[in-house]
Amino acid sequence: MRYISTRGQTAPLGFSDAVATGLAPDGGLFLPETLPDFSSELRRFAGLGYVELCFEFLRVFATDIPAETLRSIVAASYAGFPQADIAPLRRLGPRLLVLELFHGPTLAFKDFALQLLGNLYAHQCRERRETINVLGATSGDTGAAAIHGLLGKPGTGIFILYPDGRVSPLQERQMACTGAVNVFALAIGGTFDEAQAALKEIFGDQEFRTRHRLSAVNSINLVRVLAQCVYYLHAWLRLSAAEQSEVEFVVPTGNFGNVLAGWLLQQMGVPIRGFKVATNQNDILYRLLTTGEYRVCAVQPSLAPSMDIQVASNFERFLYYSLGRDPARVRAAMEAFKATGVCVFPDFDRNAFSASRCTDAEILAIIGRVYREHGYVVDPHTACAFKALDPDRVSVVLATASPAKFPETIRAATDLEPTDPSLEALKGRPVVKHKIKADAAAIRAFIEAHSV
Ligand SMILES: *Cc1c(COP(=O)(O)O)cnc(C)c1O
Repeated sequence: MRYISTRGQTAPLGFSDAVATGLAPDGGLFLPETLPDFSSELRRFAGLGYVELCFEFLRVFATDIPAETLRSIVAASYAGFPQADIAPLRRLGPRLLVLELFHGPTLAFKDFALQLLGNLYAHQCRERRETINVLGATSGDTGAAAIHGLLGKPGTGIFILYPDGRVSPLQERQMACTGAVNVFALAIGGTFDEAQAALKEIFGDQEFRTRHRLSAVNSINLVRVLAQCVYYLHAWLRLSAAEQSEVEFVVPTGNFGNVLAGWLLQQMGVPIRGFKVATNQNDILYRLLTTGEYRVCAVQPSLAPSMDIQVASNFERFLYYSLGRDPARVRAAMEAFKATGVCVFPDFDRNAFSASRCTDAEILAIIGRVYREHGYVVDPHTACAFKALDPDRVSVVLATASPAKFPETIRAATDLEPTDPSLEALKGRPVVKHKIKADAAAIRAFIEAHSV
């Protein structure tokens, strides 16, 4: 299987090279050259456990890794999930289920992809006798999950930019209290979007990028999307036949990476009825899906900080399919968007997704209501997905983070104080963070001084 860029000006790469490259050199995002069709495999997949299913799915994509090596990479990636059930599907009502994706090492769904990515990078370093420096920007959970995917892995360095003061104190501790020498938590003065812009500029500098063997870890990496397909498949296989044909997955959305994975799986022959994009008050995707216009506004910090995003970078992958897989049209759309901050998409399939948006006040009210009605505590991101659920459908809500990561918000909504032993352990450790300007030159200089 080879991987092409959405912008069509990068020669196709094999799996391992596409993963190591992250963002394509032409500025586009990698996608499989053709999508496989799993429809005739679903019966066989139904009996598999999570790790085995993940292996069976990924082997179709990672064709340049020997099967037994891939199997051990997958097994190692989910070994750090303490429960036997890696992605539990909980039933809250006859037509309402919750897919809990927060039982990994950093208690958010991003562990699913980033544990795997960390092991793939480490494999590559061993195989090629090279080092790799991973660079990412985070609005909260990505950084922690990326760091825990690479923690102490020989031959790797990891640099994570995050907006200083705009991630929760516990999220910051997960990044800055690891004690690992290959981890650098960079607290930037600015927003997530500014951090992401600086990062794009650094990745655009080919000489610097090659010299430091930089790779991206934010949600543009191909592996992020592929690894996330697996839990949709695992959950779908566990529904009854009647539910399988009716189900709508409801996805708390920021960068569009999570919901895109579900949609791609649907394109690969898994008959999922639909998807709902649930945003917080940063609602560019809600507005896009309800009006057809993609228009950037300023980010407003919210109670669901991992969704405080305006430019949803993974949307470009959906755009590629929506524009007839024509890279020239993708380039034109992205250039127009870059120049004006607005893009109108007259011809994309709006029926593919429904959408909702949720203010901070609604997040608090929903956490309280879900607790009263179901005795179940949801984190502020997951709460957004409980807005306006369609009672005529079977809804599977993706629970993207543990409520224990957001104790202040949960306390405000319910008087409860959720906790988790892994978070308690962090409280006694020193915070080691590097304050830096949201500026490509300053970040480059830091990497220059600390890369492996
Ligand atoms: C990252 C994140 C999201 C948003 O996911 P995207 O793939 O960026 O759409 C939602 N909830 C939590 C808890 C997250 O960490």
